[in-house]
Amino acid sequence: MPTVDECVCCCEYDNIERKLEESVTSCKCITEHEGFEPVCLNVWVLQTAYFQYRQEHGHDDEDETPQERYRYIAYRQFVRWCWEWLGKRIRVVLPSCAVTKIRHAFPSTAAYVGFRYPPT
Ligand SMILES: [Zn+2]
Repeated sequence: MPTVDECVCCCEYDNIERKLEESVTSCKCITEHEGFEPVCLNVWVLQTAYFQYRQEHGHDDEDETPQERYRYIAYRQFVRWCWEWLGKRIRVVLPSCAVTKIRHAFPSTAAYVGFRYPPT
């Protein structure tokens, strides 16, 4: 799992700074970028990314909840989007704003039932 406990602002990353310049909304935070939601939070995009991940890594952890799976894939999507490359594991420290957004969308507890996640 990525290192997510350090608090880092997304504006401290040169690559994210460049990403923000690509935005048409001149946003100051990567989570406000119009690309963030479709890339990192859209479950159908994440499902597709998960299928690719599973094909490449043979990953299929039965103990993982769908939320955990989507959260992990969302982090990967974010790294792919902003850094363009990815190892088998995520080794960069992700900005706390992005981590918070993704955690909120895919909480660890199963209590959140407003949305039904696709099973894989
Ligand atoms: Zn930010």
